[in-house]
Amino acid sequence: MNFDLAKTPVEYIKGVGPKKGELLRKELDIHTLEHLLMYYPFRYVDRTNFNTISEIRSNDIDYQVIGKFRGLSENKTKNGRKLLSAFFYDATGTVEVTWFHGFKWIKEFIKPDLEYVLFGKPNYFNGSYSFIHPELEVKGEQVSVSFGKLQPIYSTTEKLSAIGLHSKGISKILQNALEIVKGKWNEILPQSVIEQFNLIDREEAFTQIHFPTTQEHLHQAKLRLKFEELFFIQVSVVWQKMFIKHNQKGFVFHEKTNFLKRFYREKLPFNLTNAQIKVLREIRADVTSGHQMNRLLQGDVGSGKTLVALISMLMAVDAGHQACLMAPTEILAQQHFQTISELLDGLPVQVRLLTGNTKASLRKEISQMLSDGSLKILIGTHALIEDSVRFKNLGLAVIDEQHRFGVEQRAKLWSKNRLPPHILVMTATPIPRTLAMTLYGDLDVSIIDEMPPGRTPVATYHITEAHRLKLYGFIKQQIAKGRQVYIVYPLIEESEKLDLLALEEGIESLQRIFPLPDYQFSVVHGKMPPDVKAHEMDRFVKGISNIMVSTTVIEVGVNVPNATIMVIENAERFGLSQLHQLRGRVGRGAEKSYCFLMTGNKISSDAKVRIETMCQTNDGFKIAEIDLKLRGPGEISGTRQSGLARLKIANLATDQDIIQITREAAFNLYKVDPELSKPEHKNTKLYYQHLYAHNSHYAKIS
Ligand code: ADP
Ligand code: MG
Repeated sequence: MNFDLAKTPVEYIKGVGPKKGELLRKELDIHTLEHLLMYYPFRYVDRTNFNTISEIRSNDIDYQVIGKFRGLSENKTKNGRKLLSAFFYDATGTVEVTWFHGFKWIKEFIKPDLEYVLFGKPNYFNGSYSFIHPELEVKGEQVSVSFGKLQPIYSTTEKLSAIGLHSKGISKILQNALEIVKGKWNEILPQSVIEQFNLIDREEAFTQIHFPTTQEHLHQAKLRLKFEELFFIQVSVVWQKMFIKHNQKGFVFHEKTNFLKRFYREKLPFNLTNAQIKVLREIRADVTSGHQMNRLLQGDVGSGKTLVALISMLMAVDAGHQACLMAPTEILAQQHFQTISELLDGLPVQVRLLTGNTKASLRKEISQMLSDGSLKILIGTHALIEDSVRFKNLGLAVIDEQHRFGVEQRAKLWSKNRLPPHILVMTATPIPRTLAMTLYGDLDVSIIDEMPPGRTPVATYHITEAHRLKLYGFIKQQIAKGRQVYIVYPLIEESEKLDLLALEEGIESLQRIFPLPDYQFSVVHGKMPPDVKAHEMDRFVKGISNIMVSTTVIEVGVNVPNATIMVIENAERFGLSQLHQLRGRVGRGAEKSYCFLMTGNKISSDAKVRIETMCQTNDGFKIAEIDLKLRGPGEISGTRQSGLARLKIANLATDQDIIQITREAAFNLYKVDPELSKPEHKNTKLYYQHLYAHNSHYAKIS
């Protein structure tokens, strides 16, 4: 590179001395010229437009007016405060302008014959508009860099403002910064990409993002810079994925036994859905390819992922391997263990459950069976990845409800073997496609986009206190028909004690309305000992209790097809994906199911959107899209670790189309130059290496 932005300290810029440099580093993490140039405005004030005084009719918006001053005079307010005021006029009218300090300077600055450009928001008082301390420039002098343009607004801090680095000050040093690099920019995107997507060049983009001349130029600059940012993320993801595809050897599953065939013939209680068949084909292809499988299986709640997991594990077992299934909670692990044990009942395939609560004696037995290879399927929680757990030949690891397991934990499973096991990650939290592409870009994605037959969408209603008694009446009817009911209370860490109290009070009043012995309750919350929890769950699963009162511990995975009512108390306190997960606990059997979202009368506008969305759709992907827009990607699990939340200009929620095209561009680049060794890609490679120099998580291109 003929000019290295990343190696030039900010002090190199005119107007940035040691003191400012120090504060820029401390307050904004701006160390280099590159950092500064990438400190983008967070909004723009449009100063391309001029108004006349007669057009001023709102105190909510900025006006920019050309006019002259007359009648500058010093006065006092009613309570004795000194002020300076003058009349500002153009051909259409007059407004008053007032100052409360800086008198000396203003008196020198305001001259009766000169024309000024005034800019600011007016005040409205006693039927007329006036300005207090507006921005002023002498027309024709154009002191400010934003005159007649879009004025960039930067976020700054109190300390920086105090030494002149308020928004305008930052704008000023950016002007100097751009001056330094003028004509010395390197293009980092391949020329072919620039041409294909009609992007403006880098220098133009940086100039226009800080000093846009028109809205159209600004738009082009944003597009180019978002593209650049997302493109290099995709390069990293695509290269990593290709590396695994080409280099990471994996077990080839050859069928040695026929447990899977017997399972299909003797045990499978229903036909697989087309979506399950399609996904299983993809998995079969992976585990016979000779490369390690890294697959993300997305399927809405209730779409039948457990069965896919079991069949995949039987593929491993038939090939003489062991398999494990890891769940995020004790309850879920137990439930999986139960379901799978029942489904395999009568087949000579050994299955065990391992959690943090497994007794030492059983642990010992499991350990023995794992190392001699007689234990084929191990189901459990995080306990599975402890160092003490050693498999003889783990061939497949299934991770359920991925969002609670990080990349690191996935990697930990790898190290349990000579060759890494095939990995199948299952999630019921649908992630919008583009986000999945970026977050799990190194994984192949399979989607179960079809529900088992006979399901009707869960009818969802928003209700308030006034309808509580009616709701209870309805619940009694359903229970009389033999159905079961969930009632969920929020439990949020900060107010854990209060919430537990609410839960306990809730149970008391519920028990008055639904008295023993006609109604049986199960109660589950996070503070319970695991064996009590399991016992309570078990009573509900077996149909002994008809009402399950709980906090969100039942959120994921739990499967009781006979339950048809889900009541969510304080529904306004839950996030969208959580609400969707909870609702997914019902509508699992043949009977029509209902979800009631109970809220107070006054809820925030975001909460309203969440509740309305739930009432309108059962489609997990639609809900995920809306969730992403409401919360922003930073809140979605996984983005934080991956650094995607630190995007400077692109937005994973709103720039999905750009993600899509940058992904294609990255794949195309990989096809033509996987080593990035062609001369025309030299700068692309250098920039990539610079970006990921400190991030070992990303693929290396060497
Ligand atoms: P999830 O995808 O949420 O993990 P589950 O695997 O728990 O869903 O399946 C939900 C319910 O659907 C279970 O009761 C399961 O037995 C049932 N199921 C799964 N596959 C089918 C199928 N092909 N036909 C009918 N029912 C199915
Ligand atoms: Mg599940």
